[in-house]
Amino acid sequence: MSARILDGNALSASVRSGLAERALNLTARRITPCLAVVLVGENPASAVYVRNKVKACEVAGMRSLRFDYPADVKPAEVLERIAALNADPGVHGILVQLPLPPQFDSDAVLEAIAPEKDVDGFHAQNVGALMQGHPRFIPCTPYGVMEMLRSEQVPLKGAEAVIVGRSNIVGKPMAMLLVAASATVTVCHSQTRDLAFHTRRADILVAAVGKARMIGGDMIKPGAVVIDVGINRLPPEEGGKLVGDVDFEAAKEVASLITPVPGGVGPMTITMLLANTIESAERVARGR
Ligand code: NDP
Repeated sequence: MSARILDGNALSASVRSGLAERALNLTARRITPCLAVVLVGENPASAVYVRNKVKACEVAGMRSLRFDYPADVKPAEVLERIAALNADPGVHGILVQLPLPPQFDSDAVLEAIAPEKDVDGFHAQNVGALMQGHPRFIPCTPYGVMEMLRSEQVPLKGAEAVIVGRSNIVGKPMAMLLVAASATVTVCHSQTRDLAFHTRRADILVAAVGKARMIGGDMIKPGAVVIDVGINRLPPEEGGKLVGDVDFEAAKEVASLITPVPGGVGPMTITMLLANTIESAERVARGR
């Protein structure tokens, strides 16, 4: 059996065309959705992510503002910028690209963003709201995964969902969303005793670890839905290409549906960032 490929680029294109229409409607009401992106330092991966986010805004008919700081900037300077963006009624979403250099307290920076503009959904208030089941902004990567599952009408109620990874930005919110959708959720991490025991039980397996091809075909239940969040660059001697946390070639012979890397969850993450920013602007338009 060979799995069907869940094409994140194709799904993104269709979601983004709906978003562009919503952006146009807002612009007609003189509220052009605007995302402000703050980048500190010269991390090449972060620079690529920021560039892609800014470009995606333009294509969707949204505004974007970009603020770049050197790696040795004083945190107070960045916090001042965030305060100004919080106060700017023309800005609907604020994103600080992580990771930040060591002199920063990342939590303090995320807490400085006004919760109603926190389109990444990382502010403690928004994390709490998600936990309580009435999210204000759903973190973009797990939001994208849920949209992928929805687009394929993957049954979630009562399904065994196993998530590998427990980060604040992917694993934990992913678990909350799948619990809210009535899946039975297991979260695995680096201290999990027998990872394969858990992954082999999964009807839905989400891998968010950051280790190239660590999930082999023999760790996957036949017919499972496999969502690969990982993005890993192979060393030059192995070809230097991007791969996921799942051994795609082996897994696709076992799974029923699988996301590729690149072209799977990545594009959906950016799409849901646009969706959150537009939603924020629509709330302004509705007066709340
Ligand atoms: P983190 O490094 O924050 O978290 C990784 C998680 O994997 C941790 O919970 C860690 O466990 C767990 N882990 C590490 N080793 C193992 C192991 N051997 N077995 C089981 N679990 C393990 O990463 P992120 O969540 O930020 O990102 C994960 C991956 O997803 C990365 O490749 C990242 O690049 C990618 N990513 C992709 C996005 C996209 O748009 N597609 C967006 C965001 C991230 P412990 O907690 O015990 O340390």
